[in-house]
Amino acid sequence: MIKSHGYAAQSSHTALQPFQFERREPREQDVLMEILYCGVCHSDIHQARNEWGGAIFPMVPGHEIVGKVLQVGAKVKKFKVGDIAAVGCLVGSCRDCSSCKKGLEQYCENGFVGTYNSYEKDGKTRTYGGYSNNIVVDEAFTLKVPTNLELSKVAPLLCAGITTYSPLRHWQVKPGQKVGVIGLGGLGHMAVKFGHAFGAHVVVFTTSPNKVEDALRLGANEVVISKNANEMKKHLNSLDFILNTVSAPIDLNPYLELVKQDGVMVVVGVAPEPSTIQQTNLIFKRRSFAGSLIGGLPETQEMLDFCGKNNITCDVEVIPIEKINEAFERTIKSDVKYRFVIDMKSLKA
Ligand code: NAP
Ligand code: ZN
Ligand code: ZN
Repeated sequence: MIKSHGYAAQSSHTALQPFQFERREPREQDVLMEILYCGVCHSDIHQARNEWGGAIFPMVPGHEIVGKVLQVGAKVKKFKVGDIAAVGCLVGSCRDCSSCKKGLEQYCENGFVGTYNSYEKDGKTRTYGGYSNNIVVDEAFTLKVPTNLELSKVAPLLCAGITTYSPLRHWQVKPGQKVGVIGLGGLGHMAVKFGHAFGAHVVVFTTSPNKVEDALRLGANEVVISKNANEMKKHLNSLDFILNTVSAPIDLNPYLELVKQDGVMVVVGVAPEPSTIQQTNLIFKRRSFAGSLIGGLPETQEMLDFCGKNNITCDVEVIPIEKINEAFERTIKSDVKYRFVIDMKSLKA
């Protein structure tokens, strides 16, 4: 077994604290990585606080992982010792169903293995995430990192990046289209960067007036303070595509009214409570309403390569791991620009 240590939630209502644990012995197709950086996703908070149900404690969160390869199994082809590698939200799937065969492991018909808060395919080995010093992963679930990008700013691409890249690609956002992004947090700020990179006219909808300047700098063409009904009305029936990245329950209807005929609203934010949609908001303009879950391994690699070519990274605030509980609180208050990333050098043995 591999000795590991990190920070864990022991229950849904206690702060994250130092935690010692063991990871499985690496197999011949596995890599053992030293974790250098791990991003702090709002999903880590939802899960550590059991806001979605089904939490397994103790829980070591973290699924935006960049690290250095310490050891490779005999059958590993992608990496050698010393290489930089990345791991996102998935560390396993059946690899045999029609979704897996299409490289859509996140939709595995037999259930994927989450990087944390999950069990390996054997049904009993716990998975623990990236708020820790190391990780053991099958190389099929590892990613290569472009060499020109700063690693702390790459880590959040593994979830915030792919979760926004994937729907923008799937719905084929292109130049000339008007794209809305609701919520300028970790996911939202990457949606703005990708929407801009794909040539769309990007409109950010935010509840935070202090983010307007940033939104424009990140690539937005327009910014709407969503509490202002008059500003919202200016965009009625005009958006080809709108991505909801909000982590809390909100009324989606005023946003659906902004979508043009045959346009689509895609939800990626996983609010703990359901929202109600007025059917007429879909029916009268033949609008669609859809969701999207992270991205599969091939698309995640495509996204990382795209970021390497176009010099796209995340805007991050690097923190020592002792500040993780404060970072959770600040994220909940929408006070993060735009992703906390843990520098794992700060983790003491
Ligand atoms: P985040 O950094 O906290 O950003 C969420 C943003 O939503 C905030 O910055 C804020 O933006 C807005 N917001 C928060 N509370 C709000 C409220 N009560 N009313 C209106 N707006 C509010 O979170 P994140 O890491 O980007 O994650 C966002 C959501 O996506 C979470 O629910 C997360 O679990 C989910 N997620 C889903 C997937 C997937 O595969 N579908 C993957 C990763 C994460 P403004 O200040 O601009 O208003
Ligand atoms: Zn995430
Ligand atoms: Zn499968």
